[in-house]
Amino acid sequence: MSYDCIIIGGGAAGLAASVFLSRCGSGRRILVLEKNPRVGKKLLATGNGTCNLTNIHATAARYHGDRALAQAALDAFSVEQTLHFFTDIGVDCVTRPDGKVYPASEQAGAVLDSLRLEAEAHGVEILCEKKADRLERTRDGWRVWAGADGFCAPQVLVTVGGAAAPALGGSAEGYRLLTELGYEKTPLFPSIVQIRTTTDFVRAVKGIRVDAAVRLLLEAKELACHTGEVLFTDYGLSGPAVMQISRPVADWERKKRGQLVAELDLLPDWDMDVLTRRIAQRSGLPGRTLEDLLTGLMHKRVGQTVLRVAGVLPLTRPADTLTAEECRRVVATLKGWRLPVTGTQGFGGAQVTAGGIRGAEIDPHTMACRQHQGLYAAGEVLDVDGDCGGFNLQFAWSSAYVAARAIAKSW
Ligand SMILES: Cc1cc2nc3c(=O)[nH]c(=O)nc-3n(C[C@H](O)[C@H](O)[C@H](O)COP(=O)(O)OP(=O)(O)OC[C@H]3O[C@@H](n4cnc5c(N)ncnc54)[C@H](O)[C@@H]3O)c2cc1C
Repeated sequence: MSYDCIIIGGGAAGLAASVFLSRCGSGRRILVLEKNPRVGKKLLATGNGTCNLTNIHATAARYHGDRALAQAALDAFSVEQTLHFFTDIGVDCVTRPDGKVYPASEQAGAVLDSLRLEAEAHGVEILCEKKADRLERTRDGWRVWAGADGFCAPQVLVTVGGAAAPALGGSAEGYRLLTELGYEKTPLFPSIVQIRTTTDFVRAVKGIRVDAAVRLLLEAKELACHTGEVLFTDYGLSGPAVMQISRPVADWERKKRGQLVAELDLLPDWDMDVLTRRIAQRSGLPGRTLEDLLTGLMHKRVGQTVLRVAGVLPLTRPADTLTAEECRRVVATLKGWRLPVTGTQGFGGAQVTAGGIRGAEIDPHTMACRQHQGLYAAGEVLDVDGDCGGFNLQFAWSSAYVAARAIAKSW
């Protein structure tokens, strides 16, 4: 079976590329091969099902790995162009105050459906349950093998995504299509992922969400810091603020050099002195035991855990027995609860893969694989990962555009 272009992987980058290509040459035969029974499984799960599809603050500085690829992709297909594109295919978007952009319907399904319907309306063929397992060079291009089926085209675009979230189709296997042809990949590690810590105290507050500032410290050196929602879990910490600072944890996990600590400021809006005075005042409230010293200032169970971490015990003591030294320890814990980090929840819990096909192997202006004619790659399979907040999907759209533009130019 012969096509003008075969796209391997029907995720964000693959579907977007198929739409871009289908608009470039009427009558061209474009095929998308997808290993899952349906396209876009991961896309459906993005933003907790609401799809944070881009971020108006997307610049190369929000990306890691090969920034030159990210820069070239954003230069070619900006956030503004992305918003026009989605409006054009029927997805009206809203921008939140923090810059995150979502479909107005807040349904990831709307983004997926619009891409799929647009592709199909322009004659793109989508074959599901076809896992590409090998690329073979032919006289006029490529044969893509999916089991016993071979599909031929002069141009092939690899958009197989990364290893994160295996339950949604993520796999390290996709890289093999390119590494078997001699392309190098950088080490893969999970990013935008939950953090494992010592759990002696954290388990007692599992399931509770707080607004906190999280600082990641390696031997007292600050590696990252973010303020936002933190979720306590039975293995450590999750929630948007934690996911946002998780990349250095995964990096550290590979080498395990030095002691990594997550430091929580549970009351980031409170000044130390004001807080000290307030707690001293609270200890004088009539009829209280230490158990209720912080009740009303924060979640009761979190407050009690803070006292245990600070060693202010037993909690059954009258609150007015709190000494100045104990008050200082409580404030120190509230403003800097230190949790030794033991690692991440791995690719299973991760949203993206850091690392991928080495940037030097790819022409940033075309996303062409440098060693072979007619071979391109886009999206998460490349050595580019973004911060949490719509940046990863933006790279998928932008890099897909660059590849599609280059493929169409050769027609
Ligand atoms: C839970 C979760 C939430 C997320 N939320 C957001 C968010 O809100 N905003 C954001 O910017 N990013 C988010 N991300 C990250 C974002 O989803 C990815 O970065 C993005 O989907 C990458 O696009 P891609 O096309 O490169 O890969 P994918 O979207 O993963 O698509 C790759 C496709 O290729 C298929 N495939 C793989 N191997 C083969 C093969 N050999 N043959 C055929 N098909 C194959 C896969 O099944 C998949 O459909 C989230 C990720 C997760 C896991």
